Amino acid sequence: MKDKYEFGLFLRFSAATVCAAAIFASVLVVCSSPLLRENRDSAAHLADLISKEEYTLPVIVIDPGHGGEDGGAVCGGVCEKDVNLSVALYFAALCRAAGLEYRLTRSGDFMLCDGGKPSKKMQDLTNRLKLTEDADCIFVSIHQNKFPQSSCRGAQVYYSANDARSAKLAAAIQKSVKENLQPYNERQIKKAGSEIFVLDRAAVPAVLVECGFLSNKEDLELLLSKDYRKKLACALFSAVMEYFSVTNETQG
Ligand SMILES: [Zn+2]
Repeated sequence: MKDKYEFGLFLRFSAATVCAAAIFASVLVVCSSPLLRENRDSAAHLADLISKEEYTLPVIVIDPGHGGEDGGAVCGGVCEKDVNLSVALYFAALCRAAGLEYRLTRSGDFMLCDGGKPSKKMQDLTNRLKLTEDADCIFVSIHQNKFPQSSCRGAQVYYSANDARSAKLAAAIQKSVKENLQPYNERQIKKAGSEIFVLDRAAVPAVLVECGFLSNKEDLELLLSKDYRKKLACALFSAVMEYFSVTNETQG
């Protein structure tokens, strides 16, 4: 697949097994924002687990939604695909800084398809999921919302029904975004149906994060801010740390 399709960065950083000291130091650095200070506890707990024995963390598959001729939602001249990619690249940078293994489904403005049949969109979505097939991983798809009622705002996280851990990952993200960035956000996580292809077909813990509404004035303004997109990535990153910590505990 890597040779056939230009997946851009198909990056695997470091070995699958990470060093406790390195990850703890890195996580402290990336969580040093006052916004994320409370998430240090889960990072410390995770580092503690890793220090006791060699613990392999799942690969984080980061999926910036849409791309190329598929712009996704468009509002006020802003294309969803561009916002998605920006948040995803910041998220990937945090994973890289922490020494976590990750894969980006796309690193530029393109679809993951080469024409022909089935449809480009179907090829694109199917190819995104192929990055989850050969490793223990989680799948985090990043999107932006749009709704006719312009007052709707705030992040909404959907989860796949195929793996019970998906809801835990979704809950961690919904909570992190609310606590760190959107205190007004009362949305609850939602189980995805067949309308969200990547979650319907995913065989690993998988979520789709609608970070905000491009159709809402306040959200749009925030999403156009580089600083806010970095904070969104921090919120996603700390939620994944929390998820790794919790799921390792429940697995004993
Ligand atoms: Zn989308």
